[in-house]
Amino acid sequence: MKSPQNPKTVLNGSHITINKRRLLRDLNAISRIGIGNHGSVTRLVFSIKELRSRQFLIHQMRQIGLQIHIDRIGNIFGKLNSANPKAPAVLAGSHLDTVVDGGKFDGTMGVIAALEAVRTLKEKKVSLQSPVEVVCFVGEESSRFGFSTLGSSLVAGEVHGGDFANATDAHGTKLEDILAGLGIYRSNLRSLRRDPTTVKGYLELHIEQGPILEAIKKPIGVVTAIAAPTRFKAVIIGQADHSGTTPMEMRKDALVAAAELIVAVEKIVRQYSRMDKGRVVGTVGAIKIEPGVINAVPGKTELSVDVRSITAAAKNRAVRLIEAKIHEIARRRKTQIDILPIRKEAPVPLDKRLVHLIKECCEARNISYEIMPSGAGHDAMQMAKITPAGMLFIPSRRGISHSPAEWSDPEDICLGAQLLLDAIVRVANEKI
Ligand SMILES: [Zn+2]
Repeated sequence: MKSPQNPKTVLNGSHITINKRRLLRDLNAISRIGIGNHGSVTRLVFSIKELRSRQFLIHQMRQIGLQIHIDRIGNIFGKLNSANPKAPAVLAGSHLDTVVDGGKFDGTMGVIAALEAVRTLKEKKVSLQSPVEVVCFVGEESSRFGFSTLGSSLVAGEVHGGDFANATDAHGTKLEDILAGLGIYRSNLRSLRRDPTTVKGYLELHIEQGPILEAIKKPIGVVTAIAAPTRFKAVIIGQADHSGTTPMEMRKDALVAAAELIVAVEKIVRQYSRMDKGRVVGTVGAIKIEPGVINAVPGKTELSVDVRSITAAAKNRAVRLIEAKIHEIARRRKTQIDILPIRKEAPVPLDKRLVHLIKECCEARNISYEIMPSGAGHDAMQMAKITPAGMLFIPSRRGISHSPAEWSDPEDICLGAQLLLDAIVRVANEKI
């Protein structure tokens, strides 16, 4: 380590401490935007509340004196310059949009922690080898348009022509129309892509949204990979008949076929529930029944199937077994079952060097950590396509998220933010 000069040069962040009170104050302040019953927070993408939360962040960035860049969709980049302003930047952040009646921490904590880390670096006049940018991505949640990681997908150049074609919200507003209002069309989607040579790495702090860290009593998770879903609809067409006059052996009951399929999804996926075999999870989360009345044999059902894993091979095997089972049920029950694909994404491994670096940051502070995959999707999975990406988790009480009951301990939040700062400093100063 070099001797402290002005500005100071440091190689790691182990003696730079964030301001916990300021961090928690900002997190509380931003949580008041979109607050509802029982402390829920609703900031749907492109809503007034979500825009106000972005305004709050821009204001904070201005106060610190960051160089602000906002791209066409509204992703915000607040840059702290370094001794080499032209060097590729270390990006750190997450998202400020939420689901309907969500919590205060999902996404927001990662943005505010990155803000606090950069504010601390600036305040303590720490000079780094690379610039650092606090990032807020637009529209990570899929709750409004069914399209997740919208802003980061565009930054990664991972969105193509017709991808938005069916993205419509509950009021019939088309995502394509909103984007057109922002000057974004199918023809210029690629113009939002960030040149990878301008980015050195991406770091994201997030709540776990699962029960593991709390159960094993560890305050930090170091994320190795992000699971990706295969999603499809299964439409089962039987025969709607009178429930009183149709003999049992003459029925083509679409709901009983659906029931068999729901149980089969669970049974098949359970074969891959162990981590060492590449854990797979599978869910039938929605079902529509027609005609859906007490006195008719159901003639049509529509199921949504969501299968996820961090191992593509395990996930694909489970999906193939589910598909085979669907054909078997259709034949045996003399129904027609159509499989309509929604999205098929490959699981994303995060950067091994960054996993190692984050582990070392934890060890330097004597913090116990768990090396673990992420079952939920995050902006980091898009950023990983253009730059080395790393993620840290902190525990979620009872594993709950996307709910007003979402909660993380303030001590864990502060620890996460501190480790994020430590990791930012090391990525900025070291060869990655
Ligand atoms: Zn999130």
